[in-house]
Amino acid sequence: MKVVVKGLGVSGSYLLYRLSREADIEVYGYDISKKYVKPCGDAVTLRPWIRDLLEELDVVRASVTNYTVKVEGKTVFETSLERPYWYIVDKALLVEKLRDRATNNGARIKYLRPHDTERTSCNRSRDCIMVDARGPFPHVKTTKYVIAIRYLAIADWDMTRALLDFYPRDGGLFWIFPANAREGIVNFGGGFLNRPINYTEAFVKKYVKDLLGSYDLLDKRASPIAVFSPIRPVEKNAGKIRKLRIGESAGFIISTAGEGNRPGLESAEALYNAIIEGGSPEEIAQGYSRRVRTLVSEAKASRYALKLAIRLGSRFYDFSRSLPEEFWYTYLQSKITIGYLVKIILKNPGLLRYII
Ligand SMILES: Cc1cc2nc3c(=O)[nH]c(=O)nc-3n(C[C@H](O)[C@H](O)[C@H](O)COP(=O)(O)OP(=O)(O)OC[C@H]3O[C@@H](n4cnc5c(N)ncnc54)[C@H](O)[C@@H]3O)c2cc1C
Repeated sequence: MKVVVKGLGVSGSYLLYRLSREADIEVYGYDISKKYVKPCGDAVTLRPWIRDLLEELDVVRASVTNYTVKVEGKTVFETSLERPYWYIVDKALLVEKLRDRATNNGARIKYLRPHDTERTSCNRSRDCIMVDARGPFPHVKTTKYVIAIRYLAIADWDMTRALLDFYPRDGGLFWIFPANAREGIVNFGGGFLNRPINYTEAFVKKYVKDLLGSYDLLDKRASPIAVFSPIRPVEKNAGKIRKLRIGESAGFIISTAGEGNRPGLESAEALYNAIIEGGSPEEIAQGYSRRVRTLVSEAKASRYALKLAIRLGSRFYDFSRSLPEEFWYTYLQSKITIGYLVKIILKNPGLLRYII
């Protein structure tokens, strides 16, 4: 069997690495950039196997055990944990290591101009699977998206704390995370659906000045997050599998947090397992769909919650205060599915007045 992976970010490079260890699978990877330069908050929500992977690759730069959640500057939830829900990683290094390992195992990687990657395909080979892992980029022409700006700076900040501050009227949030605990580097930024980039830039600068005072800027970059992309891991044409999607390209982004790293890794792992199980491309697609049911539900729940937050606007603060503490622990672990939302509403019927 042959597998062609287009896009070697966190999800594509992980899939390539996993498949490259299988003797009977030929793997090809394409990207437009030799170096992974896309900015990120670099937080990865932990699952046991993801923790093991990140530790084994030696890319962990901070461990987040303290969390503050605010709405328009006012704290709605705060916790200190014994064990972290998130690691902060050197993501460029993670991607580089996964690509290098895949290459060492025999995967063939090529870097092409965007126009040329359009032409990469299975070349009519029946025993071949085309995987789209191009992150948010396939969606930016067709769906509404957030442009998030990320800053890296040396500043005085508790290197175990993450702060999220929601601005539902602007359709987005501000964050501040540690970036590298040993070197005293912080990662902060924001992204707002309903605001232009110069607004975001001015907002973030002011917010950080008020919070941190002075800082030494190291890097500043912006990139899209496709928070309203269609959730479509399997793409068919006239009943036939055209391609399978993983990561943000599949719509696996938690819109209420801009979280895409863990969903990217989980969807790549799910596709790897479906391919290893074997069968025709149709059977592999079915196996993959079955394995990503929870991710689909999480992504759908997050789209719904983001729309609700925007609709509630200034009432979102009161709504957040009405949520039970358990909700925020589940949110920070990124385990909110449609089923979970229904359960929380049934247990707390007072929430209905915000929803109906
Ligand atoms: C500023 C910012 C902060 C964020 N913070 C966090 C965070 O803290 N935690 C979190 O979990 N998520 C965060 N996200 C989201 C997260 O970065 C993405 O969801 C995640 O990187 C998606 O992984 P992916 O592998 O699907 O795609 P990507 O990592 O976007 O990789 C896509 C790859 O495709 C390549 N590519 C693009 N076009 C083509 C083409 N035509 N042909 C071939 N290759 C192509 C790109 O070069 C890239 O290597 C943030 C996003 C932004 C913008």
